[in-house]
Amino acid sequence: MKVSENLAIIHDKIEKACARAGRKREEVQIIAVTKYVTIARAQEALDAGIRHLGENRDDSMLAKYEALGDKPVWHFIGTLQKKKVKNIIDKVSYIHSLDRLSLAEEIEKRAAKADLKIKCLIQVNVSGEESKHGIAPGETLEFVRSLKNFGHIEVVGLMTMAPLTHDEKIIRDTFRGLKQLKQQIESLGLEYAPCHELSMGMSNDYEIAVEEGATFVRIGTALVGNTLK
Ligand SMILES: *Cc1c(COP(=O)(O)O)cnc(C)c1O
Repeated sequence: MKVSENLAIIHDKIEKACARAGRKREEVQIIAVTKYVTIARAQEALDAGIRHLGENRDDSMLAKYEALGDKPVWHFIGTLQKKKVKNIIDKVSYIHSLDRLSLAEEIEKRAAKADLKIKCLIQVNVSGEESKHGIAPGETLEFVRSLKNFGHIEVVGLMTMAPLTHDEKIIRDTFRGLKQLKQQIESLGLEYAPCHELSMGMSNDYEIAVEEGATFVRIGTALVGNTLK
């Protein structure tokens, strides 16, 4: 399928999910996750009208960045090792996987050096699965507070991944949990942590995520596919 055909279907589903939830369509942005696909396929996504690209590895992002440059808005969505931060810091607009203080320290250091302010989302392990990265919900507020003096990090929101299950209730509860946390942080009115973004929803569950308040959905397979062709 062409990306444009997939995108039309996804737009339609997002629009309907927004309508069901009484939300405005403009509140939801699509991040095309291109980690499994070629540069040409990522370019096809941009040609179809996509602005946001998401990658989960520094090498794969750098290869695409070399070809596509600053045209797209780059989102780093994967587990981030400290030693990789310097490779991506001047290329990404958003890091969705901030989940520990040592990583925040490295981002702060590298961003300060490059004179940049990086929009970060805190990855929260709402479902509590052991296999998942992210900070525990109960520790999230304290973690946000610990970022107060990091002048080159702006906490723009929260990110989570729902469990891989067909049980819609489990998925929905995960997204609701993230939204509640976001509202708590927002209500603190911290200048360095406006926390207005909710990054949640992938190919299998983005409609539920939109119903529950997602502002960024991260879609790979359903949009660009997942094979290197
Ligand atoms: C791969 C990935 C996605 C996209 O997954 P699909 O199921 O292919 O849509 C979204 N978020 C993260 C963090 C990912 O690693």
